[in-house]
Amino acid sequence: MSFENKRKNLVENLIKRGVLIKKEVVNAMLKIPRHLFVPEGAISSAYLDSPLSIGFDQTISAPHMNAMMCEYLELKEGDKVLEIGTGSGYHAALCAELVAPDDSENLGHVYTIERHEELVIRARMSLKEAGYDKRVTVIHGDGTLGYIKEAPYDKMLVTAASPEKIPQPFKDQLKDGGLLCIPTGTKSFSQTLYVIKKKGDNYEIEKKCAVRFVPLIGRYGFERN
Ligand code: SAH
Repeated sequence: MSFENKRKNLVENLIKRGVLIKKEVVNAMLKIPRHLFVPEGAISSAYLDSPLSIGFDQTISAPHMNAMMCEYLELKEGDKVLEIGTGSGYHAALCAELVAPDDSENLGHVYTIERHEELVIRARMSLKEAGYDKRVTVIHGDGTLGYIKEAPYDKMLVTAASPEKIPQPFKDQLKDGGLLCIPTGTKSFSQTLYVIKKKGDNYEIEKKCAVRFVPLIGRYGFERN
């Protein structure tokens, strides 16, 4: 079966399960070649709904998780987005397709931070190959500090599990009215996904579901082993 047909099957399955709802998110998932973001040895599994190893003990999230986070963040054209945890770069590409669909540099932009330099290099290559390098900036560093240079952000997503105390830079760097989607909990996979809306000095917190992410390691995250 062609990659395109496998991608269609995956998307149809996510629609049936009620994970994918908005047509923009459906179209973005139909469009992005996920197989360009997985390691060579895993290409045949690129369109299965499961997480895949990308080396360095890290994983590309399962497609349903990518879809859910995009739905919750209500991403729209023009949004400035910060992602913490680039990993493969796939999720950043998905966000970019939603905030800057025509590759126009005047539209939205995605900034994404990764702590493993090798993953930064690979993600940049994949993003270029897939045509997202102008809409996504990959930064090497500790994402628990956020990325002050481009703050504030309309939307922020954290794709690694934070400790329960949410890193202060995330709250500070979110626009008033902005949304933050973040898993918090323990390092050992007992975690919950939240969507947090900033309203002036207050934060409205919505609990979503139980999740499993690799830990967020850094100054305001967990310590390295
Ligand atoms: N969104 C990714 C999945 C990422 S897995 C994708 O689409 O593939 C989580 C990633 O977060 C890992 O690559 C891990 O190295 C990274 N990470 C963990 N702590 C981090 C930190 N403090 N700053 C930046 N990246 C971090």
